[in-house]
Amino acid sequence: MKPYVFGVDLGGTTVKIGFFQSNGELIEKWEIPTRAYNHGANLLPDIAQALLGKLTEKSISVEEVEGVGLGVPGAVLPDGYVKPCVNLDQWGGFYAAQELSELCHCPVKLVNDANAAALGEMYWGGGKGYRNVVFVTLGTGVGGGIILNGKLLTGVHGAGGEIGHMKVAEADDVICGCGKSGCLEQYSSATGLVNRAKRLLSEQNMDTRLRSMENLTCKDIFDCAKEGDPAAAQLVDDMSRMLGKALANVACVCDPEIVVIGGGVARAGDILLQGIREQFAAHAFPATLETKFALAELGNDAGIYGASQMILNEKL
Ligand SMILES: [Zn+2]
Repeated sequence: MKPYVFGVDLGGTTVKIGFFQSNGELIEKWEIPTRAYNHGANLLPDIAQALLGKLTEKSISVEEVEGVGLGVPGAVLPDGYVKPCVNLDQWGGFYAAQELSELCHCPVKLVNDANAAALGEMYWGGGKGYRNVVFVTLGTGVGGGIILNGKLLTGVHGAGGEIGHMKVAEADDVICGCGKSGCLEQYSSATGLVNRAKRLLSEQNMDTRLRSMENLTCKDIFDCAKEGDPAAAQLVDDMSRMLGKALANVACVCDPEIVVIGGGVARAGDILLQGIREQFAAHAFPATLETKFALAELGNDAGIYGASQMILNEKL
């Protein structure tokens, strides 16, 4: 095993990069802007330049790097083909690992970003100590990752662990980013929660503080729910019910030890976790009732930690 690896998390606005020791310990992390325009033509050259630049700065040769794990916001097929990524100006449609490997002169392994975060949380965060982990990230969308016996369930079409697109409701007039409706993402993402709040306020006459708020955010809704605002509490209850029920369905398919909840929405903390636990218990197949729940711990760093594990976990 060579002494260093890189973990890279290619996001819509920034590329997060971590430089790690081969025992998985982070040496340094930094970010570069994502230049996604022109179908992302600059993305891999920018990343290669950042990695090689760091090695030069530290007087480390590329021969001392075991490899680069790269998390991308889209579907990755088992052979390393990346499908075009919506939030990277349709970057993708090719074998990105091979291209980056040629640019930075070391092996590269690709992983979907939510799957990377799941690995990161299993090795270093909320799922530490477990080998069978369901990870769900609640942000602008709902992402997921399923790890069974320490291995990611990536699937054949790159759709393994896409919990956000499970159907949790009958067809609805709100269309999901995937083109369908009734997806968990429409109910349990930050965007989904705010949209549902706006709808509730326009359809019902409830007396609620939410009505007076300009640019209503997900945090406002959770804050008001914690203070006992009935409309906010109803919205949070609905969200927890959708999530708890969806996770009960996931649990009876893959029977994990622990479910780790991450993403910006998870900052709401115990009110969210408690709601999900209760709803999970109400809907779970009895054999899965002992499934544990935890909040994610690595925040925005989960992706770089997990991407580095794409290289490390085969070696550890
Ligand atoms: Zn969907």
